[in-house]
Amino acid sequence: MTTATTRESHRAQELRALAERAGRELEDASALDILRWAADTFGSRLCVTSSMEDAVVAHLASRALPGVDVLFLDTGYHFVETIGTRDAVEAVMDVNVITLTPELTVAEQDARYGPRLYERDPDLCCAMRKVKALEAGLASYDAWATGLRRDESYTRANTPVVGWDARREKVKISPIARWTQADVEAYVAEHGVLTNPLLQDGYASIGCAPCTRRIAEGEDARAGRWAGLGKTECGLHA
Ligand code: SF4
Repeated sequence: MTTATTRESHRAQELRALAERAGRELEDASALDILRWAADTFGSRLCVTSSMEDAVVAHLASRALPGVDVLFLDTGYHFVETIGTRDAVEAVMDVNVITLTPELTVAEQDARYGPRLYERDPDLCCAMRKVKALEAGLASYDAWATGLRRDESYTRANTPVVGWDARREKVKISPIARWTQADVEAYVAEHGVLTNPLLQDGYASIGCAPCTRRIAEGEDARAGRWAGLGKTECGLHA
């Protein structure tokens, strides 16, 4: 037990040093080059997580590592358009979509905690339906790539292109951290990347249906998430 813990800890130290060095060296690299580095470094121990708002990072990752694992968290509360986007990505892109599900179904959660937990305690709901499910799904990887961008909100303004996820002891890669919304739109147009149809219907950031609304002109892209609840992040990126 002690030996295993020591070995894990040493591995974590190595990965942390690797992440910190790469974060400095790749700050000005292109998103594709960041993912090529990740593919060369981690191979099949790299995965991508996607909310299926769009498939930009999955597309970039598939160019660097064809057949890359793409993890999608099916909370049971998604818009039908989001599930449709997941199915389309699986059908047409060179990626391996893996759907993660929480321990409890929505019905089981309702029975145990009462209906509409997301209204009364969204932190607990997210912890069970997202954070815990992702942690289980990430167990077999050393590195995960996300679509976080610095311009999305003040909470994401310091996102490194490669950083250390101390909570999960994984390397966390945000290849489009430096991109703007215009950069995303240009990439989508150039490569014909799949996007969630709700982006054409007033939504700028898409999560679970009960906790997502359209945004008004001039609002922050994430203003439509947990509106009125004083919550800005689900805990996946804390
Ligand atoms: Fe629950 Fe809302 Fe979090 Fe989805 S976003 S897990 S419905 S609180």
